[in-house]
Amino acid sequence: MTIAAVIVAAGRGRRAGGAIPKQYQPLCGIPVLARSIQAFTRHSGVSTVVVVLHPDDAALFDTNVRPHLVGDILTCNGGAERAESVLCGLWALSGAACKTVLIHDGARPLVSADLIDRVIDLTSVTGAAAPALEISDTIWRGVEGNVSGTLDRSGLYRAQTPQGFDYGLILQAHEGLTRQATDDVEVARAAGIDVAIVKGDEANLKITQAIDFSRAEILIGGQMDIRTGNGFDVHAFEKGDHVILCGIPIPHNASLKGHSDADVAMHAITDALYGALARGDIGQWFPPSDPNWKGAGSDVFLTHAVTLAKDEGYKISNLDCTIICENPKIGPHANTMRENLARIVGIDVGRISVKATTSEKLGFTGRGEGIAAQAGATLVKS
Ligand code: MG
Repeated sequence: MTIAAVIVAAGRGRRAGGAIPKQYQPLCGIPVLARSIQAFTRHSGVSTVVVVLHPDDAALFDTNVRPHLVGDILTCNGGAERAESVLCGLWALSGAACKTVLIHDGARPLVSADLIDRVIDLTSVTGAAAPALEISDTIWRGVEGNVSGTLDRSGLYRAQTPQGFDYGLILQAHEGLTRQATDDVEVARAAGIDVAIVKGDEANLKITQAIDFSRAEILIGGQMDIRTGNGFDVHAFEKGDHVILCGIPIPHNASLKGHSDADVAMHAITDALYGALARGDIGQWFPPSDPNWKGAGSDVFLTHAVTLAKDEGYKISNLDCTIICENPKIGPHANTMRENLARIVGIDVGRISVKATTSEKLGFTGRGEGIAAQAGATLVKS
């Protein structure tokens, strides 16, 4: 069964405010319409997607939406009314040999794969199915600002999209339409087609007013994958004349002892990243027993953890490192260290903190036997 999707985005979207139609405005960095389209292009059951645009929006689509899409997307111009636009989309599919078509509002960016599945499944059985939610609020009728009656809400539903139909039947229904219709269920019913109700989804909201952007952002935020990790490391002093911290050599009356360059601060940061990813620790990835890492610059380890985060789809949001020692003094070098870390990690220096503390002459750091460092990292799935 070949399944296509028609995404209707030819409206002007004025009620949401803004300089450009709402479907082209960003929602957590990705335009509303791009999110709506992605839901279908990423669904394994949907093989063809056609987007119906306002004739004036071709350039907006190409600059704002197209860069977020992968693969072939058909586009066509819509008409003045929604039903005309849908018909244009259906005609654009005439060569696609599709059996089922899902018709979706471009302003419903949070449609889930589960909901699309439910619509496809029921449409394949009944020939027409659409999602809706039962109404929980009391519904009034009002006249001139006063309540004039209460409606019986049993049997009332709030309609959503995608609405699924047998392609041939809904095409015929649209071609034969003689009046206006607010959605495709109304078009289908006018042609005598029964439409089954699929359980809708509260998150599948339609961006209509400016406040809907905030509601959608909260829903997307709730799905955000944010991870934090922490790292800790200690290296002892040995005979020498400098230490290396965050890749910066600092003159001192001793050096740090270690298999690599003993950069205790960079090791703690690297372990914070591995920790956030739940991918082990520096000793597992770079065993001290391996002669390859003898004298190695610790940026090799940090770069590995950064690459791992990137490969798993995480963006490093911030790093925070505390170096614990009596000497050398860290403060004068902290900004140079931050800049070096920013260069290696590839994020803005404003997202990297390097600070220091003594341990009030207590313990091994207080006695000047070595340096300890601890670090925290925040990763956000991008
Ligand atoms: Mg170490």
